[in-house]
Amino acid sequence: MKILVINAGSSSIKYQLLDMTSGNPLASGIVERIGEEMGSLTHKAFLGTPKEFKEAIECAFPTHKEGMHEVVRLLTDPEKGVIKDSSEIAGIGHRIVHGGELFSKPVEVDAEVLQGIRDVIPLAPLHNPGHVIGIEVATELFPGVRQVVVFDTAFHQTMEPKAFMYGIPYEYYEEFALRRYGAHGTSHKYVAREAAKVLGKPLEECNLVTVHLGNGASLSAVKKGKCSDTSMGLTPLGGIIMGTRCGDLDPAIVGFISDKKDMSAAEVVTMFTNESGLKGICGSNDLRDIHSRIEKGDERAELALDMATHRVRQFIGSYFFELGKVDAIVFTAGIGENDPEYRARTCSDLENFGIIMDSDKNWNWDRTPSAISADDSPVKVFVIATNEELEIANDTVAVLGL
Ligand code: AMP
Repeated sequence: MKILVINAGSSSIKYQLLDMTSGNPLASGIVERIGEEMGSLTHKAFLGTPKEFKEAIECAFPTHKEGMHEVVRLLTDPEKGVIKDSSEIAGIGHRIVHGGELFSKPVEVDAEVLQGIRDVIPLAPLHNPGHVIGIEVATELFPGVRQVVVFDTAFHQTMEPKAFMYGIPYEYYEEFALRRYGAHGTSHKYVAREAAKVLGKPLEECNLVTVHLGNGASLSAVKKGKCSDTSMGLTPLGGIIMGTRCGDLDPAIVGFISDKKDMSAAEVVTMFTNESGLKGICGSNDLRDIHSRIEKGDERAELALDMATHRVRQFIGSYFFELGKVDAIVFTAGIGENDPEYRARTCSDLENFGIIMDSDKNWNWDRTPSAISADDSPVKVFVIATNEELEIANDTVAVLGL
């Protein structure tokens, strides 16, 4: 059975076609700069190891429809394609960034669901409009293929009000649904379930701290398999210090900078989003670069890494109190999977809290979901590679009962 996973943005479409027997991708790619004078499509097809077919196309894609058309052409190419025609696609799963309070689990697309995603646009103005277009184009190009939407916020909908409310007048919640929603929920859910497998017990019996460290990053406290707290807020700007995003800070800073620099609140938020975080402190948002600068004695790079890992430790500490007892801390995503130094700094000197790292395992993690803590560590530390596409495809199969 084959499932197509689509992540449509305002000017891009990422896609992956998965073979659900193996869980492996058959093809993947991205259409970019839709609507611009010149767009691009990068496509990879996996035609059985070690055969891999790559294609890079530069041409204009006036709308998402032309982009998706080209994707279908490549998927069904008689020579290098991976399917004969689109009737081989059993279902389509869409990644949706924001489901607001309307969606707490994946659902099949119908007119009401599509309207719900539109209703949530004020909470994700940069993302949800692109998702709506992605669904509309898929409906047109794949008539008869059922579609499912999987929300990045859904996993966090189990949080209680004490965790998701902000300390501002209640009417802002009532009028605008201003609250903490969280992000990366699909990744947190995937690695939580994989961690339960490594622990050898049902997810419903596991207490975990999941640490998704990519360019965007967030932590979740997972209590008996359900999210009870998360670091991100109303938008993906809150929480820990990220690649280019500031994370939590004193809200009065917005007014202060706006006043001193004669910037609008929106301009300040754009600066917090694109020019802050690690990049704002040391000029780079890539950990590989930051490490090489530290080696050369760059103090700003050292400060940036110190600040970022300090903040992660603060969240992990607070989630230990929230959870009472923790089975495992789980690292994932670009930094979480590839940066042993970041992991070591985050988990060092915590033996009194039951966290005993195994340096050898940490520095030689072999990409299988496994522990990097000592065998006798009361709290396990795992690294588990995330796979959001597979999670979305699995949800699609489950919702459609395939
Ligand atoms: P993601 O958003 O999950 O793709 O993560 C991207 C980030 O992962 C990059 O900005 C880097 O900071 C980090 N990263 C990727 N590869 C490595 C690596 N080999 N070592 C350290 N950090 C890495």
